[in-house]
Amino acid sequence: MYFLVKQEGQRKALIARDASAARRVGKGFETDDVVKGVFTCFVFESANAPGVPEEGLPTTIKEFFAWVRAWDADLSTQIQHRLGADRSYLEREGCVIAFNTPIGRFGVMFWLDTKHRLGFRLAPKRFRNYLHNAGAGTNVVRLRLDDISPAYIHSRNLEYPSLTGKGLTLIGCGAIGGYLAQALVRLGAGTGKNGVLRLIDFGRLEPDNLGRHALGFPALHQNKAEALKDDLLRQFPYVNVEVETTSPRLNDAFFSTDLVIDATGEEALSTLVNAAHMKHRLGPMLYVWVKGNGECVQGLWSDSDKYGCFQCLRHGIGPNYRQERFQILDSPPRKQFRGCSSYTPYAVSAPMSAAALAADMVSDWLKHEVSPRFRTRYLETADAKRIRNQDIAPTTNCPACQHR
Ligand SMILES: [Zn+2]
Repeated sequence: MYFLVKQEGQRKALIARDASAARRVGKGFETDDVVKGVFTCFVFESANAPGVPEEGLPTTIKEFFAWVRAWDADLSTQIQHRLGADRSYLEREGCVIAFNTPIGRFGVMFWLDTKHRLGFRLAPKRFRNYLHNAGAGTNVVRLRLDDISPAYIHSRNLEYPSLTGKGLTLIGCGAIGGYLAQALVRLGAGTGKNGVLRLIDFGRLEPDNLGRHALGFPALHQNKAEALKDDLLRQFPYVNVEVETTSPRLNDAFFSTDLVIDATGEEALSTLVNAAHMKHRLGPMLYVWVKGNGECVQGLWSDSDKYGCFQCLRHGIGPNYRQERFQILDSPPRKQFRGCSSYTPYAVSAPMSAAALAADMVSDWLKHEVSPRFRTRYLETADAKRIRNQDIAPTTNCPACQHR
């Protein structure tokens, strides 16, 4: 269907599946002014790339027909058949013929002579005949078409499949989760059939968060997951985002999406999530966090008994129980206090880097190359022990994955 979208004095024509899809796109342009156009629109496909004729691009319907005939004979037959068989376009004042081709999308529009289209409204063949004869001089306006379909937008920069059609759960919409959700949506999360991005966070965005969160003032004092959803929909109005604003039950339903990502950056919570994941394990999980005062960021991909779980990053039951297996920092992170709460200072670059690491690990999953499952990215100037990126073996007597 063909619509007109008015945005700050600019008018754009929009081809959309239906009225609700058109309104959603209008929302993305921050306008409610979306009306059905007075034109019919036919969209055709061609596997051939069109050339530019020596005499220049067509300006009349006759030249247009000749140009299509030279470009793709099958396509030409389809167009002629449609114009000779479909009465519906004769009810409208004009017609757009648009093309999907290997070199992009474009089209032409032309006005239908009122007397003839009404006179021949039951006989499209005769109107087509008119276009080839007395009406051959009808002017056509060439149109540039931009593909704004999710399938195009979220895959044009990738050399591997996008997240389209996948179900993703992101628990934690704080500093890391905020940037990560934005990256995931750009990779196609929440698009395609059954595609969904589930955001979970029960916290509100506080003034303290603003200095390192993807969201700004408009989201202040709102639930982080809700506000993040609103922000994502403003940017990509067709994305399917679901929100949970209460503490989730860590049951089968929680782990039922294709991937669950824990971006809470809180070890105690991640340990709980991990214990539940080991019981329910329906799909892979990714944990991502900022270490210390931002000396490095780390991610762990947990998808198999063969490799360590989140709890395996610490020693299992026995000597050294709960001590770090891969120690990076000599001393605990510096804390700062405000009122009666404490926090760990690091700059906005740390959660951005953690989100980038997670996005890369998700991309590797899409390429079926999740190894190395445990990764560390350092700040170049960090005073920290270097550990290599690797797949880790389960730790001996891990209470989460070895005691089930
Ligand atoms: Zn384990």
